[in-house]
Amino acid sequence: MNNFVYILDGTAYVNLTNRCQNACGFCIRNTGDGVAGVNLRLDRDATADEVIKMYAALEERHTTREVVFCGFGEPTEALGVLCECAKRVKSMGLTTRLNTNGLGSLSAGRNIAPELAPCIDKVSVSLNHCDAKNYTAVTNSRYGERAFGAVLEFVSDCKKAGIDTTVSVVDVIGAAAVEKCRALAKSLGVPLRVREYVSDNYNDRITTEENN
Ligand code: SF4
Repeated sequence: MNNFVYILDGTAYVNLTNRCQNACGFCIRNTGDGVAGVNLRLDRDATADEVIKMYAALEERHTTREVVFCGFGEPTEALGVLCECAKRVKSMGLTTRLNTNGLGSLSAGRNIAPELAPCIDKVSVSLNHCDAKNYTAVTNSRYGERAFGAVLEFVSDCKKAGIDTTVSVVDVIGAAAVEKCRALAKSLGVPLRVREYVSDNYNDRITTEENN
């Protein structure tokens, strides 16, 4: 079964695709098959109808009213389905957040922020590191050192498009690099969130209700 939607701590997460432009050393795809006991390996991308149907089946456990496009891959790799789902989710009176590596515009070959703005309320962009060289080393991006600049541009474009935009890094990059990221975030005019490294794929949150 393809788990296109799952609930974690009362929030609904949408797992549209397993595709990604990066191959990060710290990706949770390297340490398991999903999160909190839900298998997120897909044999194909989701359709919008499948996401809405699966959400309806899990809706009872969705207490936060926020739907996060996240999952075991990069959601903007399935941009059309992402926008269609997000529009339908918003029309249900829910709020939407996109967790992204920020490479969607580079992949699409155009600035996608204006396409996201009508349907995505918040975007959280993983900076991964503080400069192009280190970014490339930790992400193994298919775009090489071009990727980091594209991520910064995407952050700026999302802010310009009126999306509530945040950048994040994982604390394992070290205090000095985190401080450089803080300065970068300040220069972009967005908040920085420093996340803890998750080594166990949220297996401490496994409940008997999970949809795996
Ligand atoms: S960008 Fe995200 S999904 Fe892609 S490899 Fe890195 S951590 Fe994994």
